[in-house]
Amino acid sequence: MLEVNDLHVSVEGNEILKGLTLTINAGEVHAIMGPNGAGKSTLSAVIAGKDGYEVTQGTILYDGRDVLEMEIEERARAGLLLGFQYPVEIPGVKNIYLLKAALNAQRTARGEGEIPAPEFMKLIKEKIAYMKMDASFLQRAVNEGFSGGEKKRNEILQMLVLQPRLAMLDEIDSGLDIDAMRVVADGVNSLRNEERAILLVTHYQRLLDYVVPDFVHVLVDGRIVKSGNAELARELEANGYEGIEESAA
Ligand code: ADP
Ligand code: MG
Ligand code: MG
Repeated sequence: MLEVNDLHVSVEGNEILKGLTLTINAGEVHAIMGPNGAGKSTLSAVIAGKDGYEVTQGTILYDGRDVLEMEIEERARAGLLLGFQYPVEIPGVKNIYLLKAALNAQRTARGEGEIPAPEFMKLIKEKIAYMKMDASFLQRAVNEGFSGGEKKRNEILQMLVLQPRLAMLDEIDSGLDIDAMRVVADGVNSLRNEERAILLVTHYQRLLDYVVPDFVHVLVDGRIVKSGNAELARELEANGYEGIEESAA
């Protein structure tokens, strides 16, 4: 599904990713772990097509298509979707309208018609119940006055509605209490299927007890220095990144 090859990315002239290679197949859950500042968020941002990142070398292919040639909206419509690490507030825009607009943009791009209102209401009610969110969230402005945990649930709600092929979640676990963590993890797990891949960027191992990844990659200083299975995340939890950084150096 996704092939990142020898990716070099600079931000404001500083090289952040320094030759990163990663292959993600449909059906797989990959976790990217690593110390602060390693480039984890940069990787998901570049795949999603956020502004401000300069790719100086390397390629990203999605179903064989050159992702770097695609606009950010085009990527989202093609199913490459990044949640928000620090979800933005959009004053005056109701959550429900944003979700519906995003879903309709995706359907229109696929040549499907807009979703009929009753069908949308049925879908959204099912998903907010799943995320244990109150229906009043739909009528509130996007993320306005939401707590950290509510923003994270809202981020997963968006994924459940839009059903991306590659769902990228950056620090979806940060700042969550244990109950919210379980709800968020259940939401992520419900996205798992044979056609979809999930890229989880996380600093801590805790989430990975609930969403067990197929692959764990350790990103240090712009490169993946070690890959393994879920066991690697537990080793990191026990030993920290220090040993890995030393062996990488
Ligand atoms: P991580 O998510 O692994 O903590 P990031 O990808 O956010 O790391 O950042 C990697 C490095 O790039 C950091 O040193 C950070 O300061 C720098 N960086 C990221 N975004 C910007 C930016 N917009 N402007 C300047 N430096 C940035
Ligand atoms: Mg290189
Ligand atoms: Mg980050």
